[in-house]
Amino acid sequence: MKSIPQSWEGQRVSILGLARSGLALARVLTGKGARVLLSDQRGPEQLGDLPAQARALGAEVEMGGHSDRLLDCDVLVISPGVSLYAPVVQQALQRGVAVTGEVEIAYRLCPKPLLAITGTNGKSTTCSLLQQALGIRSRLAGNIGVPLVSEVSGDLTGVDYVVAEISSFQLETVHQFRPHLALLTNVTADHLDRHRTMEEYVEAKARLFAYQTENDWAIFNLDDPEASKVGDWVAQGKLPLWPHYPPPQTNGAKILLYSVHQEVAQGAWLDDGWFWVRMPGHEARKVLRWHFPNLPGPHNLSNALAACLSALCVGASAEQIEHAFANYHRMHHRLEEVGALQGVRFIDDSKATNVSSVESALLTYEEPVVLIAGGRDKGLDLDELGQVIARHCHALISIGEAGPQIAEHALKYGLKAHQRAGSMEEAVEMAHSLAPRPGVVLLSPACTSFDMFQNAEHRGEVFAASATRLMEKMEER
Ligand code: ADP
Repeated sequence: MKSIPQSWEGQRVSILGLARSGLALARVLTGKGARVLLSDQRGPEQLGDLPAQARALGAEVEMGGHSDRLLDCDVLVISPGVSLYAPVVQQALQRGVAVTGEVEIAYRLCPKPLLAITGTNGKSTTCSLLQQALGIRSRLAGNIGVPLVSEVSGDLTGVDYVVAEISSFQLETVHQFRPHLALLTNVTADHLDRHRTMEEYVEAKARLFAYQTENDWAIFNLDDPEASKVGDWVAQGKLPLWPHYPPPQTNGAKILLYSVHQEVAQGAWLDDGWFWVRMPGHEARKVLRWHFPNLPGPHNLSNALAACLSALCVGASAEQIEHAFANYHRMHHRLEEVGALQGVRFIDDSKATNVSSVESALLTYEEPVVLIAGGRDKGLDLDELGQVIARHCHALISIGEAGPQIAEHALKYGLKAHQRAGSMEEAVEMAHSLAPRPGVVLLSPACTSFDMFQNAEHRGEVFAASATRLMEKMEER
């Protein structure tokens, strides 16, 4: 594969996928003198004002399919939503075109060290905890808000670090991407509609560490088998090859582990309610006592331990970290309490779209839970989901395309009560009437939202609005 140019002046860049990150990239690269063509399979009726925005930047736009011109370029940038296996991408790879993504380009433009976090679950929470611990010395970007390329090409005066949330899709196309600190929270089954196997998914995550050097930090969750496997690969200098892309370097990054269950040789762990840390060449020390009700559930304990360790690596004090945790506002649609009625709390966890995030939500509550789950299936193990639901739920309200199958599996494993709802409003009413007092109505859907909603945020908003309507209706009586 050809290499990515050092300067963008006069370079022909094709961007596959006209969405947020594609447009952000077009803005930055046209500003640096590149000739940009944006191409999208969708037609003008689905793209709204995006084509007009792109043209206003001086980029060309093609819609409704890809022409031959797309591959007549120096660099092909693919959006995270586009698969490496898309025929046009495969064609580009066969021809030796430099195929990359926004994250690689952002890395090359970024004047500050990147602190990058990936994993199936916990990326956003861990990134925002880390960023808040570092305070105004840092910025937060990537999947979590502003596209990374926009953040790193803005004014970073007074900023020491950019904290970046990175997905496996973005890691598929990196060439040299070298975060100063790279952290893997966990890898459990997800996105298997896109990555062909679990192995390939884990290998994509491992690319976060592929080009680090001995000056960098590589951090792994010892409690997660796949994450600690990647840690072993890095320790042995044996990261898997990724076809078409530069081979991983035997990197020698400083490896740290974290665990909420056991002491580690180098890294952080939980013991008797305290976070302990042992950095290379130092004695173990207590850092802070765990007492943060705003970070509920065992998974948030793990996320916070990860963020604490990362923050210490780049110079934050225990006081700063403690302050960040104590003042942390839980993000929307992640175990967000959106109301309560007659002893029943309504919890919006719309961002839970895989089995392990649903399980972590269910482990968070002591009260009996009526779960609202279902939507568009993305190839998850519904049998495993059925077991989790049967083990932890008082009742299930199923919604969306995959609802009936989820219910079937949960009933097979002994779930006692199930009802099917045709809308979110109906689901909320049914769940509330089935919930014991005290109890919890939890939207933790284990599926994507696209069969019924615009996206996961929209699904969470409709859930919250339905809960509010029900509360108002009951008050009127
Ligand atoms: P991501 O950015 O990786 O999607 P988030 O922090 O946004 O992660 O959380 C997404 C969902 O996963 C939420 O439902 C949240 O409660 C759950 N979750 C967060 N951290 C973890 C974790 N460490 N393990 C399992 N589930 C988690």
